[in-house]
Amino acid sequence: MHTRILRFAPSPNGHLHLGHAYSALLNQDMTRDLGGRLLLRIEDIDATRCRPEYEAAIVEDLHWLGVTWDADVRRQSAHFADYRASLDKLEATGLIYPSFESRSEIAALVAARDRKGGWPRDPDGVPLYPGNARKLSSAERERRRRGGDAFALRLAMDAAVARAGVLTWTETGAGPQGQTGLVVAAPQMWGDVVLGRKDVPTCYHLAVVVDDALQGVTDVVRGRDLFCATAVHRLLQALLGLPEPVYHHHKLILDAGGRKLSKATLATSLRELRAHGATAVDIRRMVGLGR
Ligand code: GLU
Repeated sequence: MHTRILRFAPSPNGHLHLGHAYSALLNQDMTRDLGGRLLLRIEDIDATRCRPEYEAAIVEDLHWLGVTWDADVRRQSAHFADYRASLDKLEATGLIYPSFESRSEIAALVAARDRKGGWPRDPDGVPLYPGNARKLSSAERERRRRGGDAFALRLAMDAAVARAGVLTWTETGAGPQGQTGLVVAAPQMWGDVVLGRKDVPTCYHLAVVVDDALQGVTDVVRGRDLFCATAVHRLLQALLGLPEPVYHHHKLILDAGGRKLSKATLATSLRELRAHGATAVDIRRMVGLGR
């Protein structure tokens, strides 16, 4: 049996809060129980929101919590070439296509479809892609690309699902409706997702899948808010011929009003709690890992 590899993968777009602490500590506990290795990955593809000072703060907060990781930290912004190569591979299969609409054009298309009787949303509540870019002729695509028009690369979801067939994953935690064990993936819920953004040659889904494979991650332990996204991850793994990790989606830490914690709320930020005298042991207890 080879070594199990886990990872904690925060985005440096704010300070860590109790929810991150729970995820990091659970990753560390599970790594220890499995006799595995824990990696830290910094998910900073979004240059407009991520900052090096947040990354430094993440490292400081994790050290304070007593979370340790092995080997080098992987920073996604240093690996765009890897994501580009995977996009090229997908492009060669004919399953991705450029879409040139601006945000406001997309919003107008969604509004028009909503007026005609409603347009579906993805599991995060975002309208599915409403456009027709897939039907542009290759001559028109070429003309616009050569003319320098910005475009996103989208996955032709129905064709991709038909190509991949039925996909499942092994869930050792639970989804929002308690799904556990062998889960059937339903990536169709996401429509024609963006895989390559206008500004960077990747998106969250692609970067996570490529990195998990390149880093040999065997067990993905993360918040339940990413349970539904796993269907897209399984689809990309199938299309790219990448191995399938085991998934463990854990509970979310909620605020007093039952809402997901936000990086913008001071009260639950680890730095703020530390400044008010909390210890790492207190944090463990606060997130329900008391021992
Ligand atoms: N970077 C993501 C986040 O901070 C986590 C991604 C993952 O664990 O797959 O929510």
